[in-house]
Amino acid sequence: MSVDRDKLEALLKWYKQDVGKHLIATIIVNREGLVMAALKGESETEVEEDVIGGVSALVEPVLTRITEEFSSGAFGTGTFDTEKHRIIFCEAGPEAIFVTVLDSIAMVDPIFPYAYLAAEKIARIFDGRTVSPVIPKLILDQDIQNIERKVDKLQKIKVKSGEYAYKLILGGEGGVGKTSMVLRFVENSFQTDYKSTIGTSIMKKECDFEGLESKVRFVLWDLAGQAQFKRVRQSYLSNAEAGILVYDVTRKDTFESIENWFNEIKNVSPTISLILVGNKIDLTEDRVISTEVGEELAKKLNLSYIETSAKTGENINDAFKMLALQIIKQYVFTEEV
Ligand code: GDP
Ligand code: MG
Repeated sequence: MSVDRDKLEALLKWYKQDVGKHLIATIIVNREGLVMAALKGESETEVEEDVIGGVSALVEPVLTRITEEFSSGAFGTGTFDTEKHRIIFCEAGPEAIFVTVLDSIAMVDPIFPYAYLAAEKIARIFDGRTVSPVIPKLILDQDIQNIERKVDKLQKIKVKSGEYAYKLILGGEGGVGKTSMVLRFVENSFQTDYKSTIGTSIMKKECDFEGLESKVRFVLWDLAGQAQFKRVRQSYLSNAEAGILVYDVTRKDTFESIENWFNEIKNVSPTISLILVGNKIDLTEDRVISTEVGEELAKKLNLSYIETSAKTGENINDAFKMLALQIIKQYVFTEEV
C-alpha cells in the first residue's frame, strides 16, 4: 500500500507550528517500526542532520517495544519521560504510530490535543481518505474537554472487553535486579552483562490462572537505573495499579532503602497493590539479609513477601502471579459486584 508521504510531511509542518518551541522532533512510524515521515523542531541541535536516524535513536528505547508488543492496536495513547525528553505516543489508526519528542520542560497537557488530532488525520492519510493536512489552532478548554471525553469513552470500552492492562512498576535501588526480573518474566531470559536500562522501556505480559476465568494483563514499565530525576520518577510511578519493591539479599543498603521507595510510591499512587521481593537468593554465600528479616519488613509494611532469583528463574513467575492475584482481588472482583 502506498501512503501519501507528501501529505504526511505537510501535516507534520502544521503540527510543528502548533506545538512551538518545545518540539524536539516528531516522527510517524508504521506497525513494523519503519519511519514514514519525520521532522525536527526549530532550534534543535541535538538531533543530527540525518533527521530520521536521529529521531529514531531518541525514541528507540520505547519504540521497539511498542511496535513489537502493541501490534494488536490496543496501545492507544501514552506519554513517557526519559531523562532528557518527554515523549507522546498516539496510535494513528491500525497502521501507524505518531510520536512527538518534546524537551524535558515541556507541558504535555496543552500539546496532547494537537497530537491526538494529528494522529487522527494520519490515520485517515494511511487509509487513503481525503483529509486536509492543516491542524487548526484549538481553543483549548473546550477541545480538551471533548477530547478527554472521547479518550475516556475509548478506555471504558477497552475495560469492558477485558482489554485493560494494569500498569506495573518496579521500585528499588539500582543493580538489585529489577530489569533482570522483568526480562526473566517476559522473555524467560537472563543477561549477566545487562546494561542499565535507557529511559523507560515497557513490555506487556499476561498472567493466566488455571481454573480461574480472570486474566491479568500487565504493562511493565522499567525505569532507568539512575532514577535520580524526581519529575521523571513521579510520572513513572503515577497511575500505577501494581508494583514490586525489590532489594538484593546480598546488599544491606538496598534493603534499608525499601521503606523510602514504599513511601514515595504510596504517595504518588496511593491505591497501588505492592509486593516485596528479596532477589539474588542464588548467591547464598554472599547473603546478608535473612528470610526472617525480609518477612519482618513485609509484615511491618503490610505486604506479601517472596524471595527470587532472576538468574535461575526461581519464584519469578510466582512473584508476578502473587501480585496478579492481589489485583484480581482488588479490582476484578469489586468490578463484578
Ligand atoms: P536493576 O538496576 O535493578 O534493573 O538491576 P539489573 O537487572 O540491571 O541487574 C543488576 C546486575 O545484577 C546484573 O549484572 C544482573 O545480571 C545481576 N542480577 C540480577 N538478578 C540476579 C540474580 O537473581 N542473581 C544473580 N546472581 N545476579 C543477578
Ligand atoms: Mg534496570
